[in-house]
Amino acid sequence: MTTDIYRFQVGDFQCVAVSDGTNTYPPPTFPPPAIFLFTNAPREHLEQTLGEHNLNLEQWTEWVSSYICLVVNTGKHRVLVDTGAGGLALTTGKLVQNLKAVGIAPEDIDTIIITHGHPDHIGGITDNKGRLAFLNAKYVMWQDEWDFWTSEQAETKLDEHVRDVLLSYARKNLPPIQGRLHLVNRETEILPGIKVIAAAGHTPGHMTLAVSSKGEQLLCISDTVLHPIHLERPEWHAAVDFDPKQVQATRRRILRRAVAEKALVLAFHFPFPGLGHVSQSGDTWQWEPISTTG
Ligand SMILES: [Zn+2]
Repeated sequence: MTTDIYRFQVGDFQCVAVSDGTNTYPPPTFPPPAIFLFTNAPREHLEQTLGEHNLNLEQWTEWVSSYICLVVNTGKHRVLVDTGAGGLALTTGKLVQNLKAVGIAPEDIDTIIITHGHPDHIGGITDNKGRLAFLNAKYVMWQDEWDFWTSEQAETKLDEHVRDVLLSYARKNLPPIQGRLHLVNRETEILPGIKVIAAAGHTPGHMTLAVSSKGEQLLCISDTVLHPIHLERPEWHAAVDFDPKQVQATRRRILRRAVAEKALVLAFHFPFPGLGHVSQSGDTWQWEPISTTG
């Protein structure tokens, strides 16, 4: 099986999970994975939970994260969700070549939904010369998200360890789409079968998507959770989560919805293809990845 492309169907919609590559954390300014991903976790609980996932606090020195974009072909529209990281790392920026491998040219994409303004989601909007990579696309983003990254708020409210890289990506990639941008500020169907869902917390205007066709549901939850352990421990937030309290409330709301709708779920940072189902166990949840071998 390729680890770059995974085709699947949601009702009548043809979908493809497309890898932009992987990135290895921590970079120099980040703490080790267990601290970066679960920054407020009490040590003894963390050790126990990691152990249940065959991870060890001291020995887990690298988190190799997938970056997974989504294409939805509704028959009428070709929609891309997030654009990957561009040249953030040597191992990222593979979105366009992987799209071409499934017969999709950048010009074929008519709508790009940006779940939030972090580098790994907006880095592929422009190429290394600053030119738009998807010439025929209009863009959809949550109003609060756009306002945050294009205002001075970002400068004052971001952690100094990540501020420079976050701001440089926002300043390179967001201004070029301003004239092609549709901002949303409420949950609404932006195209037939594709609805935006408020999911703030990870960033001020982070959003998720509900894709539905013929009674089948896909929830594209982006960075609502970054690691499967966040389903079991929704109160453990990551160093890059902007508003920890809001993150926790958003996770619970979205995970409840995933269970209630028996939705297929796509999580941007999970092992490729990032698809699975969510099951409830007591007050928390479990990740059940789909089988990709059959
Ligand atoms: Zn991300």
